[in-house]
Amino acid sequence: MKNTSTIALLVVVVALAFTRTVAAAETGSKPAASKGVAVVFVGLDDKALADQVVAFMATNLRCPVRQLPTITQIEKDPGKEAEALSKRMEVQDGMLIALFNVPEKVSFAGGTFQTKNVAMVNIRHLRPEPLDGELAQQTYLWRVEKESMRAVALLAGAQDCPFPRCAIFAAKNDPELDRKARNFCPPCYGKVESLLKARGITVAE
Ligand SMILES: [Zn+2]
Repeated sequence: MKNTSTIALLVVVVALAFTRTVAAAETGSKPAASKGVAVVFVGLDDKALADQVVAFMATNLRCPVRQLPTITQIEKDPGKEAEALSKRMEVQDGMLIALFNVPEKVSFAGGTFQTKNVAMVNIRHLRPEPLDGELAQQTYLWRVEKESMRAVALLAGAQDCPFPRCAIFAAKNDPELDRKARNFCPPCYGKVESLLKARGITVAE
């Protein structure tokens, strides 16, 4: 009986010691974890759209892309919004792409905030009206994918691409937006890849 208690106590002590070691390793001088891109919807939830955009980005950026829970609160000032968004990032997030899905006109909801590591895209502006039928749905999804890829590139430090088919091309209207590809042209891809790597983001070879 005494032996059993001793063994049980020993197990507890070993378990506690192990927990402490793990906790110390997580907060201590562990080498930087491999980073990825975080994506968050702000405003209305659209799980189907978010899942598809995140999957597209992960495949085409070839880096980890994780989705944060949708945020419903929006700050009035873009600077404050960028600040609030940046606080949502965790150690594994090399940058944050915020997709604003708000019915009201939110004029500031677009832009790159280098110091905060945050880019905002107002996806409501990308939405074909009315959004009914398969073609409209697909057009919307592709527009969101294109502008999310562009946001990653610009936040990483790339410049607008003059090639109208490249995702980083700055489309001035819907036809231009719909004509461009969802991915980067080869030179831009190489540039974005090295810019992401320079930020500690893991890009698969
Ligand atoms: Zn390009």
